[in-house]
Amino acid sequence: MKISHAALAEKFIADEPRTDWHDDTLWFVREKRDKAAHGLPEWEQLREWGSQIKDHTLSNLSNYLKEFEEKAKANGIIVHWAGDGDEHNKIIHTIIQKHKIQKIVKSKSMLTEECHLNDYLQEKGIEVVDTDLGERIVQFRKEAPSHIVLPAIHLKREDVSETFHEHLQTEKGNNDPQYLTEAARQHLRDKFVQSELAITGVNFAVAETGGFVVCTNEGNADMGAHTAAVHIACMGFEKIIPKAEHLAVFLRLLARSATGQPITTYSSHFHKPRPGQEMHLVIVDNGRSKQLGREDFRNSLKCIRCAACFNTCPVYRRSGGHSYQTAVAGPIGSILSPNLDMKANADLPFASTLCGSCTNVCPVKINIHEQLWKWRQVIVAEGYADSTKTIGMKTMAYLFSKPSLYRFAGKMGRRMMKAFPFMTNNKFNVWYKQREMPKPPKESFREWYLKNGKINRK
Ligand code: SF4
Repeated sequence: MKISHAALAEKFIADEPRTDWHDDTLWFVREKRDKAAHGLPEWEQLREWGSQIKDHTLSNLSNYLKEFEEKAKANGIIVHWAGDGDEHNKIIHTIIQKHKIQKIVKSKSMLTEECHLNDYLQEKGIEVVDTDLGERIVQFRKEAPSHIVLPAIHLKREDVSETFHEHLQTEKGNNDPQYLTEAARQHLRDKFVQSELAITGVNFAVAETGGFVVCTNEGNADMGAHTAAVHIACMGFEKIIPKAEHLAVFLRLLARSATGQPITTYSSHFHKPRPGQEMHLVIVDNGRSKQLGREDFRNSLKCIRCAACFNTCPVYRRSGGHSYQTAVAGPIGSILSPNLDMKANADLPFASTLCGSCTNVCPVKINIHEQLWKWRQVIVAEGYADSTKTIGMKTMAYLFSKPSLYRFAGKMGRRMMKAFPFMTNNKFNVWYKQREMPKPPKESFREWYLKNGKINRK
């Protein structure tokens, strides 16, 4: 059975200094994003355009996907369609087998995480090297990325030093970032040279041109794709945008929202294979059609995976990405995951304060907190909510509908809490675990108001 988000979050916050550091680091990224966004007077206009372009594209998705496929094929790209993660993995494996390849490099792609591609290929004896620095660190540690933009953000430099000492034989205890980065650079350079096949993700696929754009800050996607004889790019079908001119909106929104940079260091445009190279593109559904059909949740497919909603979320910042156990964590992950498996991810929409900060920062104006609230209703209606929660809510609803019973229960409750404080201050009360429970009041608000309200009205 899947461990709950709450249980894993409890484990994460047991290390208080690390939790504070994680919280502060992500808040620093959020502040960088604010500074970059406020530096552009047209920021709100860009958000509005981004949102409208995505809305329009989702409403005309089949046309744009067809147009994209035609243009991409005409450019010499081999296009594949995958209904789910398994099909996506099989397509990639077939290409690898055809070329009799044993070693491949892969740049960051949350879609391949979603499809569990690494595990699939490694089980078949193929070496997959993640070339994004953060992803390589977590790959060494046999962990999943904890953040979609900063995969190793849960780790401190001492952890990285320890990991590199074990896997790259760096000097023990040397935590110098430049030294560690240089070691990773030398290690990855060999992998790039040896690899014959490179896998990349796709940030934007342009219907008008049949080309696609991959954004990285390390240049690792380019390095892989430019040295390998075969390039496979993988994309969820929502990555499509109609025209090349729309990139001017999305590239500005993405870089600022993700890291507060004015532009991502490498925004590489791929249109066709270079002479002698083979280029494949795998377009994946994996539950996206289903989400498109859910009226309340369809616009979650507008997401450009910037992670601004992660960095601002008070729950994500203090529970860590691994507590979500999904490829995409944070607020948007809590909307996408119940679509894939409602039962397994029923607790995620409840991992939110519904403060709305995620909605405020989202560059494509997804109403994230409203969708989280909506998912809660669906999950309760479908019977997937925790039974203690549903019983508690039903009891409260009954009490609220019977004023005299409510008043009687309140009076009894106050007396019991006074006489037997352990009734509320015990290990079964989750609120008590991290808090000092207040003393029960002498009277209810109603009793107080009946006395004092009259005085004030005189
Ligand atoms: S939901 Fe919005 S803020 Fe969150 S990752 Fe997607 S685009 Fe960024």
